[in-house]
Amino acid sequence: MIRIELPDGSVREVAQGTTPHDVAMSISPRLAAAVVVARIRPLTPKPVAATTDDEAASEQAMYGAAAAGGERLVDLNAPLTEDVALELLKENDAAALKVVRHSAAHVMATAILELFPETKLGHGPATDAGFFYDVYREVPFTEADLAAIEARMAEVVKRDEPFLRAEESREQGLTDYAAQGDFMKVHFIERFTQPGEMISLYKNGSFTDFCRGPHVPSTGRVKAFKVMSIAGAYWLGDEKNQQLQRIYGTAFFNPKDLEAHFKHLEEIKARDHRVLGKQLDLFSIQEVAGAGLIFWHPKGGLIRKTMEDWMRDDCIRRGYQMVYTPHIMRRELWKISGHEENYGENMYPPMELDDAEYRLKPMNCPGHILIYKNTPRSYRDLPQRYAELGNVYRYERSGTMHGLLRVRGFTQDDAHIFCTPQQIEDEIAGCIDFAEAVLKTFGFAEFKVELSTWDPADKKFIGRAEKWDGAVGSLTKVLDRKGIPYRIIPGEAAFYGPKIDIKLVDVLGRMWQLSTVQFDWNLPARFDLEYKGEDGEMHQPVMVHRALFGSVERFFGVLIEHYAGAFPLWLAPVQVGLVPISSDKHLDYARSVKAKLEAAGLRVELDERNEKMNAKIREFTLQKVPFVLILGDKEAATESVSVRTRGLGDQGSVTLEAFLERAQQTLASRSVEL
Ligand SMILES: [Zn+2]
Ligand SMILES: [Zn+2]
Repeated sequence: MIRIELPDGSVREVAQGTTPHDVAMSISPRLAAAVVVARIRPLTPKPVAATTDDEAASEQAMYGAAAAGGERLVDLNAPLTEDVALELLKENDAAALKVVRHSAAHVMATAILELFPETKLGHGPATDAGFFYDVYREVPFTEADLAAIEARMAEVVKRDEPFLRAEESREQGLTDYAAQGDFMKVHFIERFTQPGEMISLYKNGSFTDFCRGPHVPSTGRVKAFKVMSIAGAYWLGDEKNQQLQRIYGTAFFNPKDLEAHFKHLEEIKARDHRVLGKQLDLFSIQEVAGAGLIFWHPKGGLIRKTMEDWMRDDCIRRGYQMVYTPHIMRRELWKISGHEENYGENMYPPMELDDAEYRLKPMNCPGHILIYKNTPRSYRDLPQRYAELGNVYRYERSGTMHGLLRVRGFTQDDAHIFCTPQQIEDEIAGCIDFAEAVLKTFGFAEFKVELSTWDPADKKFIGRAEKWDGAVGSLTKVLDRKGIPYRIIPGEAAFYGPKIDIKLVDVLGRMWQLSTVQFDWNLPARFDLEYKGEDGEMHQPVMVHRALFGSVERFFGVLIEHYAGAFPLWLAPVQVGLVPISSDKHLDYARSVKAKLEAAGLRVELDERNEKMNAKIREFTLQKVPFVLILGDKEAATESVSVRTRGLGDQGSVTLEAFLERAQQTLASRSVEL
């Protein structure tokens, strides 16, 4: 007999060899039908190697036999052989979705081999968005082939073939796959299993795959799927090797989820900041100047100015002092700061001038440190909070740049706070308040907080345990005091101290890493920073690095996508569009309206072209201008305007005064509604 512990804490004694499906059936047949896969955790745990999330680890997880001792997913018909805690996973579980997706990869492989038997199979894992299978076939697959594969998959699903697990000796597996010319499977068996081991095979219908599983009980459980696209990849990432074809697909528990996923993808496409950036003439990236370098056009520039003005004003209001530091500084400085040693590969190479070598700055910290160090400091001067919208340059490999999101030159809204150890908690709390204000002001209601701490076993982290524990303790205390939920991520801190990352959630539910608050005792030590304490002795200040937009460029990219280019009134580059009904008869009135609105601080564009009224309205609508005012005889006679509001359409006529008052109110409140 073995013991099975269920999530409600109840324990069952069952015969060895009982399956999770048997357990589910004994609870209720309805439960058994709804369960996708099982998760087990041996009640007497054995040590297992930790895995990370990269591709090698995912291969290890798919083919290696090593993880048998720890918590793992198993097939519903896998015989249980030891005392375990058992969870029966249903369709609301993310892990169950991955099992469905990986099973869909088997279904796709089945279809491919039925249609194109000459194909050789590689690796076919689930991913966060679906699944793929790497395959080798000399002839490239066409769009029509993909459609045929998808249609055949539907037949495989309809046949509802059970996924059956079998084992055979590693030697037998190697012989069989070698005989079939399946060089990739041979590689995976050699790499992930040991001589003398048994390997596991999964069979559905006539298709057999080398795989550790688990899978759904049968192909019929793959209820909603789509073959998406194809991309080239070299076997093992080496261009001297065979060119593989990676076929992407996705799968969901039901057609409704699949449909929602495609709608989501369309939304993402429609909001692409690179497309909107061109359409709204906000920014460009130009081949002749280089990749990853941003040109802010007048309209984008206006939004940036508005963002920066808000940021500077709020910095000053919160006790920061604005500073400016050089873009290039002597190489010697980057050696003192440790950037050359620890960050060199992200920096541009040195430039040789007549007096010394110089390097472009990848970070603003050393600049602010030199300002601190230039004057003797006493405890009465602390905290010193220096803020700068600092341009930094970091080397990104060509081909990795992505619009405004991944660039080679950008502007950090950077600040460094130098304070006493006693002040640190208040300073961190101030940074978090400020970060919350940024997110709220720019229209992000939801955010997630992560606290990255060190790993005492990892040599890259400098400083003693008591320093780390003290710093992590301070950060935790601040978050707890403010009642902010957070996730602790061990081992993800910067090498010089723990950090808090704030990830905002956009309108499509996507998470973006932007704000960060970091603790640092390394740089103050490297630069011998000090202040005279109350005791008359010299002490070392603590330093906090913090950036809230993160990068102005990246934040702007996220804003464009979040608002789909329809910026709130206070950020919109053109706030009011004026459309005279007749371009000669009503132009004088339109010009007087423009002058009045501009005098009140609004950004106004008057369309004086000799075009039809509707064409002008359409143009402003395409440019996502918040208010469009139509001006004709009636309006001119009564000093009024006919208002069209973005998203709401025709709002009727109001006096110019009333419109102005309303617009100014919306502007002053920085409402994100319009
Ligand atoms: Zn599999
Ligand atoms: Zn810094």
